[in-house]
Amino acid sequence: MLRQSLIDYGMPLTSNEVPTPTPRGSEVLVRVSHCGVCHSDLHLQDGYFDLGGGQRLDVRANRPLPFTLGHEIAGTVEALGADAKGVAAGKRVAVYPWIGCGACSLCARGEEHMCNAPRAIGITVDGGYATHVLVPHPRYLLNADGIAPEMAGALMCSGLTGYGAIKKALPFLRAGPLLIVGLGGVGMMGLQFARALTDTPILVADIDAGKRDAALRLGAQQAFDPADGGARRAIIKASGGGVGAAVDFAGSDKSLPFAHAPVAKGGAVVVVGLIGGSFSMPVPMFALRAITIMGSYVGSAQEADEMLNLVKAGRVAPIPVELRPLAQTSRSLDDLRQGRIVGRVVVTP
Ligand SMILES: [Zn+2]
Ligand SMILES: [Zn+2]
Repeated sequence: MLRQSLIDYGMPLTSNEVPTPTPRGSEVLVRVSHCGVCHSDLHLQDGYFDLGGGQRLDVRANRPLPFTLGHEIAGTVEALGADAKGVAAGKRVAVYPWIGCGACSLCARGEEHMCNAPRAIGITVDGGYATHVLVPHPRYLLNADGIAPEMAGALMCSGLTGYGAIKKALPFLRAGPLLIVGLGGVGMMGLQFARALTDTPILVADIDAGKRDAALRLGAQQAFDPADGGARRAIIKASGGGVGAAVDFAGSDKSLPFAHAPVAKGGAVVVVGLIGGSFSMPVPMFALRAITIMGSYVGSAQEADEMLNLVKAGRVAPIPVELRPLAQTSRSLDDLRQGRIVGRVVVTP
């Protein structure tokens, strides 16, 4: 099999060839047809997350090098281990990558994506920037019939992240409209799931005028520029006194202060983005505003299934996708780092 692997942190990916693995036990070998290039790969390539104030979260442990990134995988079942039941060779699938240890209480209650000993594909075990990927059990292969294959993989990350975050915001929309901050790939998916799941008006904010226009075309009611000093007051006015929930799809020391400011009493901020930095708020304001600040990290396999059904029902417009050959994975990561990509780049082996 061919793959594009990380040979050292902070370095470009390199092309290399290794023997194609043989699936054992419950394992399934999937021939990759498409793999989405994701922002979180940049942090894994760097080996750390920026925590602000010069602090870093080192994420280099438990990942043998060379390592193959890529967690937004769609493909076809190619071979099955002796105990892999319920799926046949030739079946088109999307791979649920957020796999846990299978033994802890989080995994037992179906929240494998939050497991503390994850076996996440493309994160802690070899992923989809390759011609093949090994999946530990057929239950992680989701039926992608009726979904464009170039979109199916990206849905397992950006789609699921957007869906999981919007679901958390829904109960707070009794306090006011929804505000979506950050209109990259995940934010745009979030906007569409929000439209499918609630009748509440949706306000959006992004510093990029092109992205604001795109969001208005996708059904956002009003768009705001966070760089505009009057934006916060304008959002409070437009929402009739504050938004019920704000979802921060950027996750930076600029976006979070902006996102939480117009939240009404009893409202919530859902933090999703991982750009980095730190945030502070006077402690009494938590109680005085009765505000909830929570995080959201991808979603469970069950949520992935719910989300795929919404997509199959035609509730989500396709995101702009640019296909590139597998050999251009590293260049695509560089382009993503420089902010030169609109929508999603998907590599095809
Ligand atoms: Zn991703
Ligand atoms: Zn676990």
